[in-house]
Amino acid sequence: MVTDTILRLEGLVKHYPIRKGLFNKQVATKRVVDGVDLEIPGGQTVALVGESGCGKSTLLNIIAGLLEPSSGKVLVDGVEVKGTGVDRGVVFQQYALFPWLTVKKNVEFGLKLKKDITPQQREETAMKYIKMVGLEKFVDSYPKELSGGMKQRVAIARAYAVNPSLLLMDEPFGALDAQTRTQLQTELLRTWEEEKKTCFFITHDVEEAILLASKVIIMSARPGRIREVLDIDIPYPRTQETKILP
Ligand code: ADP
Repeated sequence: MVTDTILRLEGLVKHYPIRKGLFNKQVATKRVVDGVDLEIPGGQTVALVGESGCGKSTLLNIIAGLLEPSSGKVLVDGVEVKGTGVDRGVVFQQYALFPWLTVKKNVEFGLKLKKDITPQQREETAMKYIKMVGLEKFVDSYPKELSGGMKQRVAIARAYAVNPSLLLMDEPFGALDAQTRTQLQTELLRTWEEEKKTCFFITHDVEEAILLASKVIIMSARPGRIREVLDIDIPYPRTQETKILP
């Protein structure tokens, strides 16, 4: 197993401007993330939990490079994050697929940013991950022809395809029904066994965090800080039955 630190957060702070007063002219700031330090070793699956509005998505979006921190920094493999990059694959709750592209083209999309691969390698890689998520019969389908669970599988395949150092997932199963969620959790457990990727994901479901993660980070609200980091010592491979272990 890889053990080097993949992700390091140093003194991360994020405040948002808030407008109030007459004609919203008065600008104040709201401190959402308030000095977060964190280290995540390679090969681990880490869950971030905390009450709604405590700053989890803000933190993940900063790591993804979609938001700039007000101060502090994010290092991935020792390199400071400055915007988005193929070293980080991101999966959102709402699929974020391109509706005008087929499943295959959606998965290939991120690979186009990689300069060192040929169109044929791009296609082979896309097909490998489409197979991994069991959608080989739907390569030429468009997102609107797929169920929510299938769309999320495409998003997961797309994130894996670029072979990122770090997978970031913001409530990846939050929009799915209970049965589909259970099915995708089981698939992810299997995939993680095979790929051993470092994964940082947000969930509001503590059972899901314990099922999937080797570390659970609990974030507190106002101020948004790391309250506790728990090691989940249940050995892998885990199954859905892990949830009901005493
Ligand atoms: P969580 O993911 O834990 O639910 P978020 O990171 O989405 O929390 O939001 C944390 C807080 O920051 C919330 O109070 C939210 O309303 C606020 N917030 C999020 N995005 C913005 C923004 N762009 N401008 C102002 N406030 C924001």
